[in-house]
Amino acid sequence: MSAGPSGPTENKGQPGLVSAALSGLCPRCGAKTLFAAPAALADACSACGLDILALERGGRFVGVVTMLLALVLILAALGVDEWLRPPLWASLLFWAPVTIGSVIGAIRLYKTMWVYHQYEESQPS
Ligand SMILES: [Zn+2]
Repeated sequence: MSAGPSGPTENKGQPGLVSAALSGLCPRCGAKTLFAAPAALADACSACGLDILALERGGRFVGVVTMLLALVLILAALGVDEWLRPPLWASLLFWAPVTIGSVIGAIRLYKTMWVYHQYEESQPS
């Protein structure tokens, strides 16, 4: 093999979690089937039949994570508002996509991390 490992890793051929979250890759077959909607997991992988819903079970903190992130963003938005006093339309124009993008990104990353963790736990070693 020509590609040398850049660090100690147990997983062979697994994509990084961030790229897995961005593309929604199934932890078993690597198909882009993990997400049915931008921030909602599919029930099962349509390529290999992996039961994603069962793996998601227990990942209930996602609501807390989302609310904390939204709170931080709202506080940041209020802070910028106090500081720059931008017109309302400019605030909305800037913060709406930033908030939506961050929340969706955080949910995707969190759910992907959770499902991959659960998947590895469920594998016999
Ligand atoms: Zn699959």
